Amino acid sequence: MIHYHVPSVSNSLKLERTCPHCSRPNGRIHSAITQRHISDPKIETVTQRRMMCPFCKITWTVRLQGVSDGRQRTDRLICIGVVLYMLGLSYRGVEQFLTMFGWQGSKSTIERDLARSGQKAKALHIQSLRMGVKVLGVDGTGARMAGQSRAGMLFFVDIGNGKLLFAVRANETDSRQVRRHVQEIAAMVGAEQLRTDELSVYEGASEGIERTICLAHWLKSKCRRSWELARQFAAEGLLYESQTMLELKRLLHEKWSSPQLPEEIERLVRRFINCHRGIHGKANQLLQHIERTWPYIGRGPGDPTNNVTERLIGLTYKIRSKTMRGFKSWDKALAHPYLSQYLRGENGVSDLRRVI
Ligand SMILES: [Zn+2]
Repeated sequence: MIHYHVPSVSNSLKLERTCPHCSRPNGRIHSAITQRHISDPKIETVTQRRMMCPFCKITWTVRLQGVSDGRQRTDRLICIGVVLYMLGLSYRGVEQFLTMFGWQGSKSTIERDLARSGQKAKALHIQSLRMGVKVLGVDGTGARMAGQSRAGMLFFVDIGNGKLLFAVRANETDSRQVRRHVQEIAAMVGAEQLRTDELSVYEGASEGIERTICLAHWLKSKCRRSWELARQFAAEGLLYESQTMLELKRLLHEKWSSPQLPEEIERLVRRFINCHRGIHGKANQLLQHIERTWPYIGRGPGDPTNNVTERLIGLTYKIRSKTMRGFKSWDKALAHPYLSQYLRGENGVSDLRRVI
């Protein structure tokens, strides 16, 4: 359970006598307390009063806490809209909900509220970043932007605590971009290790950082490949080779945790090493690849996969982007994961007052 702190409206006016213009302290009461209509689930009116500075003669309004300058809605109502959207309603859906109760909030207002909250959550997140990430997970996803061709985002996650570190705009196919982000972010959080899937783009990007490949990805792709080759050999009547590939599959499952390439697999590597053509050549390729990547597979201690990163991309971004036609701007798309992470709380608490 996460405990949420939500904005409330104070019930008494605190006289603010400091002039917002010249900062001198002796502001004078300029009007009686007045009542003004406000949209909120609990109250219908709020009090306010005008003040005037005796020096520069400007006037200003003192409002109740929980009612922001010039707004027709309380921060509490704004918070309700933001939360409904984050729970999965569309801007239009939130508007419909609020209208149902006679509360204010048009679709475009909700959109602006979300943009503002997103930026606040992002700023808070970046302020609170700490060094000392042991394993830095990175993975990419496609980003749908309304009216634009597909683009990509990279997510950086602290595998140790399963929390978002950064979401940045970059294509997983652009090795220069990926390299720049990986290098910068790894240095910023002092990462000891980089966890990625098998894409070769991360091989170049991780220079100077120990890189481990996600065990789940690695095992799945190697086993699938061994199985495919076993089938192809069998189709050609090469039953001995087919058996060998099935044995390889079994060995991978059994021996992945060994830091050195196991002797049994090494023997298979040698058996195919001079094969360059046909299915034999493919088996050679697979075995070479297994030998080359063996030292880099994630083995723990701790989670040896990059599943945490994938799950986080799903929770903080993909679920949302799948239910809409795409974010309208990069600013909004890139802020969304931070707000989503913020709503997941820190030590069981999420203070929504700081992002409204
Ligand atoms: Zn003044």
